[in-house]
Amino acid sequence: MFVYELRFECFADTTISAAEKAINNVLEAMRANGQILGREFAVALNDGEFRVRLLTPEKSSLATRYHSPWVKQALTQLTAANILAPREKFIGQDINSEESSIEPASWQVLYTSYVHMCSPLRNGDNLLPIPLYRVPASFNGDHKHLIRWQAEWQACDELQMASATQAEFAALREISDERSDLFRRGWDLRGRIEYLTKIPTYYYLYRVGGDKAAEHNRACPRCGNQAWKLEQPLHDIFHFCCESCRIVSNLSWDHVK
Ligand SMILES: [Zn+2]
Repeated sequence: MFVYELRFECFADTTISAAEKAINNVLEAMRANGQILGREFAVALNDGEFRVRLLTPEKSSLATRYHSPWVKQALTQLTAANILAPREKFIGQDINSEESSIEPASWQVLYTSYVHMCSPLRNGDNLLPIPLYRVPASFNGDHKHLIRWQAEWQACDELQMASATQAEFAALREISDERSDLFRRGWDLRGRIEYLTKIPTYYYLYRVGGDKAAEHNRACPRCGNQAWKLEQPLHDIFHFCCESCRIVSNLSWDHVK
């Protein structure tokens, strides 16, 4: 990932609230399109100029050719708040984060966790994140539904990993049960992406707990397929794969050596 600074300069008198609103709209639009990562952006005002540091999946993520209709509209609306089009300054490569997938994928998977800031769509061949703006819009011009699904999945993951509250159990159900709302929404988005990209796209179902012997013999929770256990796990994570349901899952983390 890469670090950029965007600078928004005022060309006439504006109010801070009008400027904030217009700038935040640009950032929200870029986030919903996968051009910038993360959820919170510190916008600093200094000498009549607003500056914000951003994390992008690729060096070219902010290029006009990737803009969604909402990003284009938000940039146009800056003028109404008396702000010039932002200037970009490349700061450098982020040393703590993964690179993006640029190779074509033979399969893809929706996979995230609470520590991952990157795209939840991964190249199945190397598990590298695929920048979402490179994929046709999954809903209404961009990927806002997918980004929202990711944020909720991560929130549930963090609650169940912390194991400190009663919310742990409800959160675990959302990420590990095929009857949950998060499953239904994520699985539908997966189908949409598969349809748009023509690349088989799987959903990752989290798994923890369970009896050891039963765990090795468990069936696909959606169709009852008994033959979905792989001889060798993929990427040391996916021990199960049901091709017809497009679900991959791990061997319960309690039973992995
Ligand atoms: Zn199945």
